[in-house]
Amino acid sequence: MAAERTRSPTVDKMNGKAATRRASGPPEHVPITGDGLPDLAAMRALGMGKAGDEWSRRMDLVARFRSARNAAAHGQTGAAAERIAAECGVPVKTLYRWDRALDSGGPVALVPARGGARRGTTMLPPKLCDKIRAYWMSRQLPPVTEVFDRVVVPYYANNGRACPHLATVRRYLASAVSPIEAVAFREGPRAFAANCAPKVRRALPERVNEVWVADHRLWDILVVVPDGKGVGWGGTKAKPCPCGSGEKRRDCCSLRRPWVTMIADVRSAAWVGWRIGLGSV
Ligand SMILES: [Zn+2]
Repeated sequence: MAAERTRSPTVDKMNGKAATRRASGPPEHVPITGDGLPDLAAMRALGMGKAGDEWSRRMDLVARFRSARNAAAHGQTGAAAERIAAECGVPVKTLYRWDRALDSGGPVALVPARGGARRGTTMLPPKLCDKIRAYWMSRQLPPVTEVFDRVVVPYYANNGRACPHLATVRRYLASAVSPIEAVAFREGPRAFAANCAPKVRRALPERVNEVWVADHRLWDILVVVPDGKGVGWGGTKAKPCPCGSGEKRRDCCSLRRPWVTMIADVRSAAWVGWRIGLGSV
């Protein structure tokens, strides 16, 4: 299922249909989870972390826009759109475009188009580079010679300029396609999961109380502790202590940040215990 979805844009592209969508549409290769969402962990592994962050931002923005639109009184939706666009520093037209893209293309449509940064340095024109990449990243594992014969030669046959050498195309692919991308898109999601993807097991325990997890954090609040040590007051240690003893702070209580320790059951996500204290134990 996921394999089909990952592949279909490539097929479109090879039929030439995706060429015009390219400028504003998503990149042709986005790893996708079983739920049809961009796989952010895989994107990070592929060096597409920034695109993943931007996708999250756009999704968040469109979600805010939609809830504001639902809440807006009749005739006020335009104002809601303008307010949210201004808050987020995005032209309101762009916000409407993303909203439509989410409806028509699903979440993947909001992944930003690939920038020029990772195309590698080459004399080949960018348009041809895109075609070469798209053909190369196919599950049919075409050799470079086939990419050359099917994509590069016809491209130059039509425009009258001298065709570059096969070695140029080979060099371009070596610089523009990372080994990890080659595994992900030429060998497929299964090979990627086996060889490259971060190993994360998300299977839940079968029974409640089978696995508990615990963690502690230094809490971001301050408490007055009557310990007679008078520490933690900084420049205010000569003032009267807030406990009401009449002593100066430096001769009375301390100001401390407490630790909180929580224990949760993994299966039910219920808290089974907690402790607040001044030590991290
Ligand atoms: Zn005190």
